[in-house]
Amino acid sequence: MSDKIEMRTPLVEMDGDEMTRVIWAKVKELLIEPHVALNTVYYDLGLKNREATGDRVTTEAAEAIRKYGVGVKCATITPNAERVKEYGLTTMWKSPNGTIRAILDGTVFRAPIIVRGITPFIPSWTKPITVARHAYGDVYKNVEMDVPEGGRVELVRTSADGTESRELIHAFDGTAGIVQGVHNTDGSIYSFARSCMSFALDTGQDLWFGTKDTISKTYDRRFRDIFEAVYAEEYADKFADAGIEFFYTLIDDAVARVIRSDGGYIWACKNYDGDVMSDMVATAYGSLAMMTSVLVSPDGYYEYEAAHGTVQKHYYKYLKGEPTSTNAVATLYAWAGALRKRGELDGLPRLADFGVKLELAAVKTIEDGIMTGDLYALSNLDRKEKVDTETFLLEMGQRLSAIV
Ligand code: NAP
Ligand code: MG
Repeated sequence: MSDKIEMRTPLVEMDGDEMTRVIWAKVKELLIEPHVALNTVYYDLGLKNREATGDRVTTEAAEAIRKYGVGVKCATITPNAERVKEYGLTTMWKSPNGTIRAILDGTVFRAPIIVRGITPFIPSWTKPITVARHAYGDVYKNVEMDVPEGGRVELVRTSADGTESRELIHAFDGTAGIVQGVHNTDGSIYSFARSCMSFALDTGQDLWFGTKDTISKTYDRRFRDIFEAVYAEEYADKFADAGIEFFYTLIDDAVARVIRSDGGYIWACKNYDGDVMSDMVATAYGSLAMMTSVLVSPDGYYEYEAAHGTVQKHYYKYLKGEPTSTNAVATLYAWAGALRKRGELDGLPRLADFGVKLELAAVKTIEDGIMTGDLYALSNLDRKEKVDTETFLLEMGQRLSAIV
């Protein structure tokens, strides 16, 4: 086909590691480049190049997203002690996702990809539940101490003018114990609220939020107040026009309602709730390989990725020449989401439409019974076939060509 779909602004492309790096190249070659005159600025976030550039490449990629607006990222290795040895690293480089998130100040939205034949553990969840996790503060930036018996622990706040105020946390009379200090900032909570509300509008879904504000009358209450203020002042009219709702309830009530729901909304969670609940929701939908993830910044930047890692075990088999059946769907959806968003922002309906068609072709292939091993084990279709990654992509390519 000579009449390829045009792009205008380049997409920020961040390559990665191991099996997902192999899949990355295949997805481009077999599914995107045949149809799109692909225009990207390329950053190699593979661990070797992070080492070679002293990790500057990660920061440069994040800055490119701030410049161009939309990025797509392959899974990357977050080094640990073994990786330092394996790759001969000079230092244990930080998580690229953490670095990018700190620069973009965003919220991560994770949503399952739902296909016929794979029934969630909660069978009523027929639509996706998108978990939005606040990625700053609380227990993740805590300060904690052991307290010996007889210790007395107070909160001390020193204001800018030097005045102090104190509050007793606990007097540890007769027993030792523990204490923990946590914080958050209004700025970060405002950003979180705006990212969630923008994303709800973007995707036309209701927004739910829950905290424990009945018990935590200052800390959790602040989250609720900020969400309600942002909603009333900036979003209420837009939500009404879009026919969607913002719904606040106690976190316990939220959890109970989530289980009884049929999905189809965004669930905004405080940092710890989001950490725990996103794993529960992902597992209940079936597979991490069918979970997409997008970082949305309050300034309107987007970074799309798969929620899973680099699938190291499959990569070692691949290196030995053994057949692998790694699921490419989440990586493919990252590309689809990024191209769709690029098309929307640039006013290029053909490009946006291509993103949608990529997703349709992937779902159609699986629903036709052609799938990788992870899904084969889950699918309850009568006629199903387990294929390797490349065969899946080729099968998908045929279905894509029929609708593009
Ligand atoms: P992983 O790559 O998510 O894989 C864990 C297991 O989940 C795999 O062994 C495989 O199970 C299954 N799996 C995950 N994705 C799959 C897919 N697309 N298709 C089929 N099966 C899939 O996690 P990991 O092995 O713990 O981590 C490997 C590396 O990824 C680490 O270095 C970590 O730092 C990095 N990581 C990166 C990101 C990111 O960049 N966003 C996120 C998480 C982890 P079976 O072996 O049973 O088939
Ligand atoms: Mg977790």
